[in-house]
Amino acid sequence: MKADANRPVENDMTIVNMADAARTYFSVRAARRAGTPPAQIPLVYFDITRRCDSACVMCAFRDSAARAEDELSTEEIKALAPALASKRARIVSFGGGEPILRPDLEEIIRAFRREGISAHVNSNGLSITPERAASLADAGLSMIYISCDHCAPEKYRRIRNIDGFDRVVSAVECFKSLKRPVPVGINVAVSSLNESALEDIADFFAGMKADKIQFTPVNRLPQHKSMTEETLEPLVPKDIEGVKSTLRKIAGKLDSLHIRSNTRHFIDNIHLAYEGRGRVPCYAGFLWVVIDPAGNVMPCYEYDTGLNLREKTIEEIMDSGEFRSRLREVKACGAKCFDCGSAETGARMRLAHAVGRPFEVYGEIRMHGGA
Ligand code: SF4
Ligand code: SF4
Repeated sequence: MKADANRPVENDMTIVNMADAARTYFSVRAARRAGTPPAQIPLVYFDITRRCDSACVMCAFRDSAARAEDELSTEEIKALAPALASKRARIVSFGGGEPILRPDLEEIIRAFRREGISAHVNSNGLSITPERAASLADAGLSMIYISCDHCAPEKYRRIRNIDGFDRVVSAVECFKSLKRPVPVGINVAVSSLNESALEDIADFFAGMKADKIQFTPVNRLPQHKSMTEETLEPLVPKDIEGVKSTLRKIAGKLDSLHIRSNTRHFIDNIHLAYEGRGRVPCYAGFLWVVIDPAGNVMPCYEYDTGLNLREKTIEEIMDSGEFRSRLREVKACGAKCFDCGSAETGARMRLAHAVGRPFEVYGEIRMHGGA
């Protein structure tokens, strides 16, 4: 067939990415089945600080005593970019705390983009200015996720303990109004404090042309060690079945607007989050690794390895006996937790999802995979 000389380059990249994504998909599934360290680690959750300028009621990651000097330095983080590229990392998701508080974030993003790795940032949006949005975009930011759990300012304040809703709206506008807009995802933590407003929140950010709006349950993940039953209980939605049917409606509406949202599998099983159990195989350590601000590497926060990037390379860590034994524990974990990171990703790794929702998978890869 004659090649179409007018076809946009982006389409060529997408085809390459799709073939590459298929190879990665089967390689990761095979590694999990065998329980062995994967040859490649496509996704890295890299928490680069525990400092944060918000104080959300459902948070377990902010540390008010965290100090910048205890975090990996700019040079230490940049040095990881080629090492992770050699493990075929596709996406590094920088989180925290609030990663925007690090003034070297642009320098870090540049280092990863130079290696062909997509750079995502999870932010609360509070300190985004037009200038910062432009400099992050110039550095090559691939996608920004902004967390916001309400669209009424006083309710936002109740959840986040800060007057910040207007700043969140402004942050979304900053990224959407750039000459080359950065895709914006909105993360909404579902709790009793917003269960009756979920559709309004989705409508609000759909009206702002968000590219993805996803919901995650407030729950007591094993890694949320500071969340006790006493703090969790008042946050559990009163009508979980009502939440599910609202989320189904929202997902259908967003789908028709070509805005990405949660998988149907995730929504249908979201009640399990509030019961402290899950129903999808977990790919921690097989599809992704977690790196904390001090350089510790682990499959997930529940299964620390005691191995640090200041002492060993990522290759040495992933080939180590400690990491292998943690992988065995992950396989036996039985999906005790159920959040966006583990359950949603596990849901997307199901063969039924890949085969049954090819356009959704294609859309996800296009949005996330194009480094
Ligand atoms: S913005 Fe994130 S890290 Fe900061 S307090 Fe809220 S949930 Fe925690
Ligand atoms: S289900 Fe996965 S992410 Fe959750 S605790 Fe178990 S291994 Fe960790």
